[in-house]
Order: sequence, then structure tokens, then C-alpha cells
Amino acid sequence: MPWRSPLRCLAWLLAMLLSLCAGAANAQVGPVGIPMRTCVLRDAPGLTAAKLFHAPARFACATPQARLGGGDFWLLSQPLDIPADGTRLAVRSSSVWQRAMTIHALYADGTIVSIRSDDVAASRHLRLGAIFQRWLPLRPARLVRVLWHVEGAANLRGILLAPTLATSEEVSRSDTHLAALYAGVGGACAALLLFNLGLAYALRHRFMPFYCLMMIALLAYDMSSSGTLAWIFPDIANTARIRINYVLLALVAVSALAFLRNFFEQRVITPRLKRVGILASVSVGIPAVGIALFAPVALRLFDTLYAFGFLFLLGSVVPILVNAWRRHSAFLPFFTIAWALPIAFAVLRAASSLFGWSYDFWIDNSSVISMTLEALLSSLAIGHRVLLLTRERDEAREQEIAARLLADTDPLTGLLNRRAFLRGAVGQEGDFTLLLADLDHFKHVNETIGHDGGDEVLRIFARTLRQALPAGTLVARLGGEEFAVVIANHKDTLADDVLDRLRHARMPFDITVTASIGQCRGPLMREADWKALYRSADAALYEAKKAGRDRARGAPPLRRFAA
Ligand code: GH3
Ligand code: MG
Ligand code: MG
Repeated sequence: MPWRSPLRCLAWLLAMLLSLCAGAANAQVGPVGIPMRTCVLRDAPGLTAAKLFHAPARFACATPQARLGGGDFWLLSQPLDIPADGTRLAVRSSSVWQRAMTIHALYADGTIVSIRSDDVAASRHLRLGAIFQRWLPLRPARLVRVLWHVEGAANLRGILLAPTLATSEEVSRSDTHLAALYAGVGGACAALLLFNLGLAYALRHRFMPFYCLMMIALLAYDMSSSGTLAWIFPDIANTARIRINYVLLALVAVSALAFLRNFFEQRVITPRLKRVGILASVSVGIPAVGIALFAPVALRLFDTLYAFGFLFLLGSVVPILVNAWRRHSAFLPFFTIAWALPIAFAVLRAASSLFGWSYDFWIDNSSVISMTLEALLSSLAIGHRVLLLTRERDEAREQEIAARLLADTDPLTGLLNRRAFLRGAVGQEGDFTLLLADLDHFKHVNETIGHDGGDEVLRIFARTLRQALPAGTLVARLGGEEFAVVIANHKDTLADDVLDRLRHARMPFDITVTASIGQCRGPLMREADWKALYRSADAALYEAKKAGRDRARGAPPLRRFAA
């Protein structure tokens, strides 16, 4: 079946994406290298890197960072003791909301190297996966410890997330794997977007614009959250990129929900579900706009509202699916699987921030992948919907053809009925011959072999007529045992040929049936032509009957008169 091939393509895309994710999850990506454990100290006047490197006891190591709230902080790594063997090292951590960060590296010879990055520098030093990274200079002494000074930390999920010390080899391996992952996800999104833009143009369903909007937002979110956006616009502040992340992810979710609401059958989305959907969209949209416009003011509040709004929005999908199940929607399986992943990951993400689970690169980056899978399965549902519509249309068309056939044919003989015959015969340029055939003594035939036998005789005569005439000739049963033929180029022997065939046709109980034919040639342009032609042919038929039946008679041809 031809519809299977696009579905197969999508299935391939899905398999490719899953294997990419599995590959990337297996590979060392994101927080690669030596992990650093940090102890934290709130900033106070007079504190310097030189003092703090020698006062590790002032740092708290047990308190979870996220409990400390926003502000300026110092963070100290564990003792490191990395030999100076000529390997370049990078200090990495997941990018978070902050005003500036200074990395201080202490070497065995007592030297402290300090590298400061403000908001714009932070985005210039982003690697794939939105990992902030600064290279340490090559020095002849051992690296002893790293100290970070973070200014204006929002500290939503931690002040410093997953800090590591990585070699250039580890960095480039992580970059390659993540590039494959983001390119795979981005490519799938772009393919789905183009495919669905084409469908939107061709089909113009209500839900298509929402799907396309979702894919555009998802592509943009893919670029922004992966850090690629910062490569294209190097002057953009990192916190601006994070604001964009919030807005784009909200747009993805809101348009996905709008798509879902418009996709399901009308009976599934009740007015109440519609209201819940609008409320859910607003509950995600308002905090996103709040962060975009006002952060860092009330960032923590907006971020919490945003997380709850997201859970509410994803939760609002559940009653839609339940209702779809109750009302026997054809699309339930696709959407149950499609939305299961984003819902599961969002719950995991919300739980990890609510219960203070340790930061995980994959949970933090799950939105793009799960939403891409959602988009992929939604596209399958769209394909399924197109298939159902096509089937419905084909069935309707077949029914229409059958109904028209039924309205135009005589049910007993399968010949045209009078109405269809006249529609086909009248209104043509040129001269035509009309043959009127009437079975002889048919009343007697009925009396001899019964009404059913008479019906069979009518069917046999109809078949005999058709066989005697060229294909495509207009033949009709005008009523009772009277038949009509209209033919443009008829041979003079035609009527005799018909009568001869009838005489020799095998009839029920081997009776012999004959007919009489009256014919006349003339124009058939208008209704009046038909009436005149019929009158003449009928008169000729009467002549044939009077002359003893089982014969044909012709009337003089009719002339065309100027109207
Ligand atoms: P003639 O040779 O003068 O045409 O005589 P006839 O008996 O054929 O003509 P008449 O018009 O008197 O009778 C026609 C008969 O055809 C009457 C009717 O019962 C029969 N008839 C009409 N429609 C059907 C039908 O659908 N099936 C059958 N079995 N008989 C039909
Ligand atoms: Mg008759
Ligand atoms: Mg008759």
C-alpha cells in the first residue's frame, strides 16, 4: 500500500533518533573529564582568592547549594594535584544564570591565574550542550586547586553545576558526540517541519499551523539551548540566551497543546477541556514572559511558577487522552506514546529540582529529545489522519458512483432508463437513427411461461440488443417491453440483424419470441426533435405490427428546419 512508505520513513527517522540518543548517552558528553566537588562560601567584603585558597575550613561542604538562594559566592574545589605534563586543561561547568564568574587556579609554585568572564564572555565561551568552558594557560607547575568567584548567581538549581577539568581530547570528543545528537534532532525537526509545511499547504487543516509553529519553536529551542545560538550571535549575553530558552520552550509546549486540541475529533475536546488548555497555556506563558522581561527580578518566583505551569500543561494532556479513550478516538495510541516521554521527563525534572536531586546533564537536556519524539509521533498521527480521510473520501466517491448508476439504469435489464437515455441522446449535432423495438404478443408470453419467465425474456432481449450493437451505443428500456436505440452511423441491416438474433435466442422453455421494430432518421438537437423522431418511429413500429409483426419498418427521414 502506498501510504505505508511515509510511515516507514518516519519509523526510520525515529529509529535513527533513538540510536543517536543511545549513542550519545553511552558516549562521554557534557560534564567530561575529572569531576570537581565544590564547597561554598557566601561572599563578604575583604575576601580575596589569595586569602581563601589558604582557608578551606571557611567553606561549607555539606549544605546543598540550591538552599542558599541568590547572590555572590565563592566555591572551592577539592585538592587536585594535576602534574604539569604539557596537557592543556579546561575548566567546564553547565551554563546557569549569573552576572559574572572568575576562575582562579592555584599552582604549586604559588602562582594564582585568574580568568574573569562577564555575561557576554560567558556566551562566547559556550561549548555544545551549553557548557561554559575556559582554558587554563600551560604552566610549568602542578595545578593544586580551583576557586570560583560567582557574582549575581540566581542559584535556581545550584551555583555551579557539574564542574569538571577536561583535556582537549575529552572536550572535542564531547563536542563531536553532541554535534551528532543536536544535528540529528535538528535535522529530524527540519525534515518534519518541511514535510508538514507541505501537508499544511495541501490540506489546510486547522491543526497544521500549530504543528508547524511547534516545530519552528523546537528548532529554535534546539539552537538556543544547545548554545549554537551564541555562536551565531557572539555578542548576545548568556542571560539573554537563557531568557530566550524559557520563552521558546514555553512556545513549544503551548503550540504542542494547541496542536493536540485542534487535532483530536471535535467530540473529544469538550468546552471544559478547552478552558483547561487555555489556562495551562497562560500558566506557562506568563512566567516565561515574566522572566524574559524582568529577570533577574523575581527570577526564582517566576522559575518556580514556570515549572508548575509546565507540569500543569503536561498534566492537562492527561484528561484529553482519557476523553479520547472514552470517545474511541482513532488517534489515541499515537498521542499516548507521543506525550508519555515529555510528561515523564518533565515530572523527573520537576522532581529533581523540588527534591534537590543532584544535577544530571541528561535530565536537564531531556526536553529537546522528548519533544522531538513527540513531534515525530504526532507526525505519524497526522499521516494516519490523512489516511483515514483518504479512505473516507474514496468510500464516499464509490457510493456516489453506485448511487448515480442506480438512478440511471433499469434494474431488470441493466440498460439505461428513459431519463438517462434522453439525457444522453438529446442535444447532439448531426443526424441519428432511432430504433423502437416492441416484443410481439408479450402478454401471451407472460400467460404462457409466467411473469418471472417474462422477466427472463426481457433480460435476454436486452442482452441480444446490446450484442447486436457497437459498444457505446445508447440503448434503453423505455418501459414495459419497449426498447429504444439511438445510433449515429447505422447500417440498413441493423434492425433485421436484431430480429434475427432474437428469433434464434435461447428462451425459457424454448419458446420463440419475436419483436417488431420501427425506425426513423433525423436530428436530435432539441427536445422537439426527439418528440418528432419518436412519433415517426412509433408510427413505423405500428406499421410493422399491422403488417404481421416480427419485422422492421422505416419512416421517411426527418429534415432539420431552421429554428
Ligand atoms: P403487441 O404484440 O401488440 O405488442 O402485444 P403485447 O401483448 O406485447 O402488448 P401489450 O402492450 O398489450 O402488453 C404488454 C405486456 O407486457 C403487458 C404487461 O403485463 C407486460 N409487461 C410490462 N412490463 C413487464 C415486466 O416488467 N415484466 C413482465 N414479465 N411483463 C411485463
Ligand atoms: Mg408488445
Ligand atoms: Mg408494448
